[in-house]
Amino acid sequence: MRIWLSRPHMGGDEMELVEEAFASGYVAPAGPMLARFEAAVADYLGGGVHCAALASGTAALHLAFRIKGIGPGDEVWTSSMTFAGGAFPIAYEGAAPVFFDLSPESWTMDPALVAEALEAAAKAGRLPKAVVPTDLYGQPADSVAIAAECAKYGVACIVDAAESLGAACRGAKAGSIGDAAVLSFNGNKIITTSGGGMLVSRDAQLVEKARFLATQARDPAPHYQHSEIGFNYRLSNVLAAIGVGQMRVLDARVARRREIFARYEADFRDIAGLSLMPEPDWARATRWLTAIRIDPAAFGADREAVRKALLAREIESRPLWKPMNLQPIFAGARHVGRGLDAALFADGLCLPSGSDMTDAEQDEVIATVIACGRAGG
Ligand SMILES: *Cc1c(COP(=O)(O)O)cnc(C)c1O
Repeated sequence: MRIWLSRPHMGGDEMELVEEAFASGYVAPAGPMLARFEAAVADYLGGGVHCAALASGTAALHLAFRIKGIGPGDEVWTSSMTFAGGAFPIAYEGAAPVFFDLSPESWTMDPALVAEALEAAAKAGRLPKAVVPTDLYGQPADSVAIAAECAKYGVACIVDAAESLGAACRGAKAGSIGDAAVLSFNGNKIITTSGGGMLVSRDAQLVEKARFLATQARDPAPHYQHSEIGFNYRLSNVLAAIGVGQMRVLDARVARRREIFARYEADFRDIAGLSLMPEPDWARATRWLTAIRIDPAAFGADREAVRKALLAREIESRPLWKPMNLQPIFAGARHVGRGLDAALFADGLCLPSGSDMTDAEQDEVIATVIACGRAGG
């Protein structure tokens, strides 16, 4: 594969920081780089948030659920379109997921559907234990609106900002909204530690508890003593060094991803049957991945034909997330919505959007897509 969807893009300082971690002797799952990385992210997000650096975004979400006391018999509401790591932690705690459709204006969890469902659930006396708005492809869900609805009913709002570091919702940075938020630094995300995640919250105690649970829940004692079940979820100090370097280039990465999106948009604007993920006026997306829809009747080829044509030229692309309620493992889970999620899965495609992609490479992607349709044939 010559042109990737998104691949790790180092800024230049990372190796030196990793060497610093080695030199300090902390080739260990603890050490000073962890605190530096957490401080860098907290400073970036602002708003007095605290951060716990963890092994993955999935681990961060799991700890958030654990700390909020979510368990069997509880419902957790989240976006139908998400990565498995955004839904599996609900099952880790034995809770029941309910999957919500997207809003046409943002292609993220529909706040109107959530508001209606919360009102009905409150009347029925069956409120969920948490709502998890999921930011998609660099675009924030309207977590400000959803968190406000949750607050009316005393329901926890935990934002899955794994795909949106660098974005903003109604002026608030993605990752700083809700009772807690999770970030991911997996290899394909906008910045990466090769693998890693973070739990973010304004609630210092919640974040302290996450650090405690992430390091096997050791009670303060000279011997090993445990009064709670813990996890081995802490990020390693060496990987945190990569994160410190990556935070220095985050804004540049966002600018480049937005530029890539803008080039796709300019070249697809006049092509019948191609449309791009919208950006509502209350959001500033990072455009982590450029997501498009292909209307086969108007364009003259369907999503799969385009994906295969790209693949034949060694260009990676991928259908949008398969809605979780359509996944075999979640068969029978409740779904709320009108089916925009299923429609986007049927005709949506993510195009190469890596910040290290060259203009020439992007031109090849664009030409290959256009050649599939009527305008190109
Ligand atoms: C990547 C991702 C996660 C999980 O993060 P990991 O660091 O890979 O565990 C969770 N939710 C969404 C929406 C993601 O894209």
